[in-house]
Amino acid sequence: MPIKSTYPPINIPENIDLWALLFSHDSPCKREFPPTKEILTCPITGQSYTWSALRDAALAFGNGLVEKWQWEKGDVLAFYTPNSIDTPIITLGALYSGATISPSNPLYHPRELAFQLSDSKAKSLITHPSCLSTAVEAAMKSGLPLNRILLLGPDESHPEFSHYTSLSTNSVSISPKSDLAFLVYSSGTTGLPKGVPITHFNTLSNLLQAFSTEGRQFPWESSVQLAILPFFHIYGLTCCVLLSILSGWQLVILPRFDMVSVLNSIQKYKVTFMYVPPPVILAFSQHPDVDKYDLSSLRVLHSGAAPLGGELIKRVWERVGVPVKQGYGLSETNAVVCCQEIGDWEGKMGSAGRLMPNMEGRLVDVETGEEVMTEGREGELWLRGPNVFAGYYNRRDQEGVFGVDEEGRRWFKTGDVVRVDGEGNFWVVERVKELIKYNGYPVPPAELEGILLTHPDVLDACVIGIEDKGLATEVPRAYVVLREGIARTPIKSQELVDHVTKQVAPHKKLRGGVHFVDQVPKSPSGKILRRIMREQTKRKARQE
Ligand code: AMP
Repeated sequence: MPIKSTYPPINIPENIDLWALLFSHDSPCKREFPPTKEILTCPITGQSYTWSALRDAALAFGNGLVEKWQWEKGDVLAFYTPNSIDTPIITLGALYSGATISPSNPLYHPRELAFQLSDSKAKSLITHPSCLSTAVEAAMKSGLPLNRILLLGPDESHPEFSHYTSLSTNSVSISPKSDLAFLVYSSGTTGLPKGVPITHFNTLSNLLQAFSTEGRQFPWESSVQLAILPFFHIYGLTCCVLLSILSGWQLVILPRFDMVSVLNSIQKYKVTFMYVPPPVILAFSQHPDVDKYDLSSLRVLHSGAAPLGGELIKRVWERVGVPVKQGYGLSETNAVVCCQEIGDWEGKMGSAGRLMPNMEGRLVDVETGEEVMTEGREGELWLRGPNVFAGYYNRRDQEGVFGVDEEGRRWFKTGDVVRVDGEGNFWVVERVKELIKYNGYPVPPAELEGILLTHPDVLDACVIGIEDKGLATEVPRAYVVLREGIARTPIKSQELVDHVTKQVAPHKKLRGGVHFVDQVPKSPSGKILRRIMREQTKRKARQE
């Protein structure tokens, strides 16, 4: 018996695209705030946009793509930039032009960015001057012409590259159920990063699902959101950028997370709520400056992207008197699957809330593959719903992430084990897939193992996530088999950590170190059994 959402179903139109949802007169989500409402604020430059100015700037850019560059529906536009007040504009302008957006982490190395540019077949890249040298190197590696690089931000020190505003009008008809709005990258349950194609309908559905629960709790007149989540990740893109524009919330955008700027911005802009990952909740419980600022405007903090235990929620409540609620989601479900509501925490601390409207879940025993039907049931979560993707980009070999029930219905297998109580509240219990999450950022172990194997002294490697309670995150650790005759020394271990660091974005660094072992657990077919390695490590930690 599938788990149904406890919310009443909502009406999700199938024939309108994201631009029409956010900006057209006949949007099913009637705008209740005036077009002069300030929507975007940059605390660094003081620049701001009202809803109508945002729409006009986005239209101009979208039209320019079509008119000047003959942009065609489905052409991929890559983003490689820290959060900026320009990001929502280029996102919406690109969606208007029919483009598919493929955002990437601005800390990626040229190797990582070049992979995404080639795999997604990007036709153009928008970057920030601070990222330009890596962007140019990656463009050259992937064969993207340098005149297809556009800049954003106020810096005018690179006249050899065009600014996105230099483009400037036309309209495209979009088929919401088949045209892609976004192509984000996720490592899924196994292996290297893969493109997750997200249609206009997927995003529109999740916006309406989240609006029906979150929108009700945050009235447009009084809501100010501070954004520190990266806009290249589905959580920041959906909950910060798009949901704010739909709901009429003011969005104050910081380019990166730093706790003093966060505290300062909360006090200055009277911020009412924030979507954050667990390490930011930890910072609210620990940072020495928290007590020096007036945080009385803050109504709630929302944590997602990685597990958050009840203990930390209690500590923040005791220190700052701000409640913390939690949600759970994936790139493949674009984005929110379940979410707590304000006041939902009585006896439910640590829960990730209830299933979004129009979604169904199914719990499947990891060992037997049977559906778990008992009260308080626990098993791998399978999902269906209008926001769930249809399959990875150009990866037919990945059909295994979908399962079929007795009635022949297709489900997405999340790779997460959850428990559901009698009222429909979800608790994320553990992860059975390989993915590691550092500070909410995904780290694919197979990518780090591949890099370790390029070192001449390494015979075999297995990377797993180790919980670091002090930092409220997992950190990646490698177990390495050295070639015969190579000594297991601390210097060798550091050399291997450095070998990886040089080739990856900072969040993928082997912060859990390199440990030496005689062998890596493997199945008869040669597949690395990371789960066994995780269990062995936990057992050893308990004994110590
Ligand atoms: P991503 O595709 O980067 O959004 O990663 C999705 C994964 O993050 C999920 O499959 C979970 O393993 C993890 N995740 C997201 N939210 C939570 C949460 N509230 N608790 C535990 N894990 C979470």
